[in-house]
Amino acid sequence: MYADTAAGRAEATPGAEGTCPACRHPVRPKCGSIVVHHWAHYARTDCDPWSEPESEWHRGWKLAVPPERREVVIGPHRADVVTASDGVVELQHSPISPEVIEDREGFYGQRMAWIFDATEAYAAGRISVDHGDGEWDRLRWSYARRSAGVCRRTVLLDIGDDLVLHLNGLSRCRQVTRESVEAWMRDGGRWEVRRVPAPAPPRREEPPAGSILERLAKAGRWSEGTPAMKARREHSARLIVAMARWRATGRPEDWAAYVALARHAAGYRPRGG
Ligand SMILES: [Zn+2]
Repeated sequence: MYADTAAGRAEATPGAEGTCPACRHPVRPKCGSIVVHHWAHYARTDCDPWSEPESEWHRGWKLAVPPERREVVIGPHRADVVTASDGVVELQHSPISPEVIEDREGFYGQRMAWIFDATEAYAAGRISVDHGDGEWDRLRWSYARRSAGVCRRTVLLDIGDDLVLHLNGLSRCRQVTRESVEAWMRDGGRWEVRRVPAPAPPRREEPPAGSILERLAKAGRWSEGTPAMKARREHSARLIVAMARWRATGRPEDWAAYVALARHAAGYRPRGG
């Protein structure tokens, strides 16, 4: 994200020249339209073996703290974020080996915490949370990252939607807001982030109430289940409305409309037809 330039510490811009703040070697700006703008070493690889390609995800988290606390050079490494209380937060998007985890945790010590990018895993349904009454909720994580199991420091999973899971082992967690994690990074303090109240358990499907037209309106909302089930429910709701209209008006065309609709029902066979 940053290099030392003639104008001071700066982000990559087209045509700029910079020096890596860690190894002092020249770096060049990469400002394509697909990958987030970044500085690259002229040598093929980054001088910090722990660094990974900069992404919008990394950038989003780093922006939570002032610039001087992003990518802070500590010995041969660059800590992604240094918190107000001198903690180190390492942002990890790609899979990482248990050996590297141990190295990084050993290097930074107790002051360090991880934020793993779990947005894809969560969106794909591989991570879910069963909310209980206790302090910790139950975490279900299919093919949990092998690496997360070896972490000895605080682990946070960014699951998107401004939610973060604070892990306690691989089977317990509590859900906290991203905002509270960012506030902790920016302002420091104890590792107490604001917990998100567990959402009420999903209610069982309720039979529709109110007028027939309200039922029809509701049908779209309470129709859970397979698309076929939903289609059948919506069709019944339309039938109810059509029948009610004919009863109210008594007009032949309303009766015809009802019959036409009924003929669309699955398995309809005209009697004697
Ligand atoms: Zn370097």
